Amino acid sequence: MQIPKLNLHIHSNYSDGKQTITQIVEKSIKLKLEYIAITDHLTNSFKKWVSKLNNNLTISAYLEEIKNCQAYLISENIKLILLKGIEVDLSSTEQFIKKHIKISEFDIILFEYLQSYESIAFLENIIYQWKNQVKDPIRFPVLGLAHFDPSYFMLGNLDILMRFLKKYNIYFEFNSSYPSFYSPRYERFFEKIKESKIPVAIGCDSHNQKTLDDYKEPFEMIHYYNLERNLESLINIIDQRETHFRNTSI
Ligand SMILES: [Zn+2]
Repeated sequence: MQIPKLNLHIHSNYSDGKQTITQIVEKSIKLKLEYIAITDHLTNSFKKWVSKLNNNLTISAYLEEIKNCQAYLISENIKLILLKGIEVDLSSTEQFIKKHIKISEFDIILFEYLQSYESIAFLENIIYQWKNQVKDPIRFPVLGLAHFDPSYFMLGNLDILMRFLKKYNIYFEFNSSYPSFYSPRYERFFEKIKESKIPVAIGCDSHNQKTLDDYKEPFEMIHYYNLERNLESLINIIDQRETHFRNTSI
């Protein structure tokens, strides 16, 4: 497969990124990126200071800004798919997450710090409730694990993790800011990802413009693990959603 120019993990100045959403989109157009997601932090844990997205008014303004950029890309016929995303810190409280995420408003949700069997149960409970709010599967956002560290699951619970990811089609992110999480010492983990047909994606965890197009090295590793099909399956889902939303908004 050709190298898909994608970066599904970008922070703006709504959290700890340097650029505005518009600046990120402008730069992405210049770099000829094909798929990007703005994924600012949502957290009320110890790191709550990193984000302004802690009230529904600011979250609405954030989503509105991304939507305006989406409309601009469509009106100018620019081949860049922009996703409205968020990165949910799983050490936040369930109440905080549920209060601030209106699930149908998002295209993509990343979860950070899935590090234990208990955190799978915590997340599954939240996803279950969200699924009840959005009945049509095509309208449900794409879900992914941000900079997931396989070491927490290598010595046990690996099959439980795989079943969970499979059940909800949650992807593994090749994050160029954390290359150690996809190093060859996790070969067995990636064999399971392949066997179980878990989707994979690329996210650069960009906090400034310099890292917006850091997708090449993660792609080489996807190739190394023979996971191109897993990546293709994710891109297909994004394309299908995009077609669906464009058709229904006309
Ligand atoms: Zn991030």
